Amino acid sequence: MKLYAPTYYQNFTCIADKCRHSCCIGWEIDVDDGTMRAYDTITEPYGQAIRDSIDREDTPHFKLCEGDRCPHLDESGLCKIITELGEGYLCHICREHPRFYNDTNDGKEVGLGMACEEACRLILSSDGYSEVVEIGEADGEVDEIDFDARVHREKIYDILSDNSLPYTQRLRLIADTYGVSLSVKTDAEWRKLLDSLEYLDDSHRALFARYSSDLSTPESLEAYLERALAYFIYRHTAAAWDEYEFRAAVGFALFCERLIASVAQTEGVNDLTGLIEVARMVSEELEYSEENTEAIKESFFNTLFGEVQS
Ligand code: SF4
Repeated sequence: MKLYAPTYYQNFTCIADKCRHSCCIGWEIDVDDGTMRAYDTITEPYGQAIRDSIDREDTPHFKLCEGDRCPHLDESGLCKIITELGEGYLCHICREHPRFYNDTNDGKEVGLGMACEEACRLILSSDGYSEVVEIGEADGEVDEIDFDARVHREKIYDILSDNSLPYTQRLRLIADTYGVSLSVKTDAEWRKLLDSLEYLDDSHRALFARYSSDLSTPESLEAYLERALAYFIYRHTAAAWDEYEFRAAVGFALFCERLIASVAQTEGVNDLTGLIEVARMVSEELEYSEENTEAIKESFFNTLFGEVQS
């Protein structure tokens, strides 16, 4: 089946030792069955180091070292599996990160997750977010999906890119069109919800706890925030199987964008470099925890469910 991606996708290359927030630190990395079998047959000296580094209890995974570092990350920030054996020996998760996939009714879409700082830089600095192009073939069968989220996504991108309207008015229009106003909760209620979430880095809890919807968006950041919202829409609405799931995903996307704007404002961020750091942080805390994503979507589902009942 066909594989589609935003136009910036093919410009991605991991910046490895130049990355300040390496995905090889802080995450437990599971080793898939196929790669595990390959590791068990490596005869080169580094093969034994790999086998010794794996905890085979439950799902096999690399045993993290001090500072939660992957045991194969060297002091200069390079992966020893690649330098010793080549990229072909990376496990599925390492090979794929930071990519994500969504099925559509005529193929698959792939994107780059914003928690990766290089992906985040590309997403926030690339024009043409509404262009999704065919980049090749993907494995698997096309699923029969009745609801085509891409039709609505195009409508949202039309509103979002309409420069004849002020940026905040475009956000309101999207929220109104899909019935997912952020005023479904007061700012105090959003802050309470943010405080109740799980965090990878607990210092982010305090930053998010200052959330406010009253802050104005600096004009210098609007184009970047617009691209961030387009990314959240691309990533989270494609998998929607019906209109309500789609609308809750739009609510989630709008909330993530406003949280980035709010943290940027309270932290005095006014350029792309600073915004990349804030957007990466919001992505890693809200998007990379299924529980956190669902907790936020739930806020919109409750309202949408009320619509169905009445
Ligand atoms: S977070 Fe992104 S740029 Fe950094 S090491 Fe991982 S894939 Fe590479």
